[in-house]
Amino acid sequence: MSRVLVIGCGGVANVAIRKCCALSEVFTELMIASRTKEKCDVLAEELRKTSKTKIETAKVDADSKDELVKLINSYKPDLVMNIALPYQDLTIMDACLECHVNYMDTANYEPEDTDDPEWRKIYEKRCKEEGFSAYFDYSWQWAYKKRFEDAGLIALLGSGFDPGVTQAYVAYAKKHEFDTIDTIDILDCNGGDHGYKFATNFNPEVNLREVSAPGSYWEDGHWIEIPAMSIKREYDFDQVGMKDMYLLHHEEIESIAKNLPEVKRIRFFMTFGQSYLDHMRCLEDVGMLSTTPIMFEGKEIVPIKFLKALLPDPASLGPRTHGKTNIGCIFTGKKDGKDKTYYIYNVCDHQECYKEVKSQAISYTTGVPAMCGALMLLTGKWNAPGVHTIEELDPDPFIEALDKYGLPKSESYDPVLVK
Ligand code: NDP
Repeated sequence: MSRVLVIGCGGVANVAIRKCCALSEVFTELMIASRTKEKCDVLAEELRKTSKTKIETAKVDADSKDELVKLINSYKPDLVMNIALPYQDLTIMDACLECHVNYMDTANYEPEDTDDPEWRKIYEKRCKEEGFSAYFDYSWQWAYKKRFEDAGLIALLGSGFDPGVTQAYVAYAKKHEFDTIDTIDILDCNGGDHGYKFATNFNPEVNLREVSAPGSYWEDGHWIEIPAMSIKREYDFDQVGMKDMYLLHHEEIESIAKNLPEVKRIRFFMTFGQSYLDHMRCLEDVGMLSTTPIMFEGKEIVPIKFLKALLPDPASLGPRTHGKTNIGCIFTGKKDGKDKTYYIYNVCDHQECYKEVKSQAISYTTGVPAMCGALMLLTGKWNAPGVHTIEELDPDPFIEALDKYGLPKSESYDPVLVK
């Protein structure tokens, strides 16, 4: 028996909600609440035909703590799943604390308005002290640790694939395969083709901010920052083939470096096709990726938001995307005094996902771990109060759930290493 409130009804939430409602013995009652209630109603109506989960819907502005508190107090959920945008993480965490309810999300906090002078002051200090300049970092949400602990509540951060499953793979490697881990390379490959010259697979604004930022990696206890897309490697991915991949800054590097200080180097690579990169560079050069509002014909517009309105909705890519994703981690380290390498990854087929949940594999590989993270919290498998990232928690039940509910792991003990 559980009552769950899901906030957001976009690409990822659609998958997570469908997977929750397919497991109605755990997810007995569920409310879908988002900015556009009509989207929640359409999904709820469809799912009511096949699922035993009792589904309700509501409209909520998750930027407003007052609205959230009112909704949470009236629905009284056991867990709030934040699958809106990273901009809403802190307001939803505040509301959860006020209403005494557990929290989870799929991406760490970043501000919508990066020109806000108060935020900018803290951001610039952090850039100098830490040595990386991404707009997002964990400090904002880690600052809630004591409050969640004192309240006996859990906040589970980043229960998607990367972040999320990649950190469970790290915990799994540490628990079962290594005495000490020396290096971790996280490889995120999307071998899918949607037929458009340019489209993003998840929220365009969040996606383009992430990939147009400088890259960085962790080495010997500190960050090394590089210009965007300036480190390129080729890798031959199982079931996908040879792809170009680029080193990016990614949020889980920060938490893994903190929680596994023995690791000497942590890098994150993502594959991109030439067409995507050419379009992105051009859009950046003409200012279309800017988050700073400009006046256009007497009206204020934010260039990247305007661009979002022009690009295909990621949720619409499902029927047209063919091919597979392959996401995982390659480790080097030592076991019983001997050098060892290990690769753990998942391969996911875009069309299979579409057949199952009417979505492409990027939303699927995020929505399934969101459901599985909620499952861990609701069944008490993960129950330590506080604010947690996934490498801190027991990986076994989570990976078992991923195997069972659509994202089975593959393993190799002799992987080709990334130079
Ligand atoms: P979408 O843009 O498709 O969906 C976002 C949803 O949130 C929409 O339903 C939107 O409403 C709703 N929303 C936005 N602002 C508000 C608000 N103020 N109040 C209430 N609802 C709001 O995004 P995705 O589904 O692609 O991504 C969801 C999350 O998943 C993001 O945080 C993203 O960063 C994360 N993600 C994580 C990954 C991982 O592996 N960890 C990978 C991919 C994504 P409306 O319909 O009105 O626009």
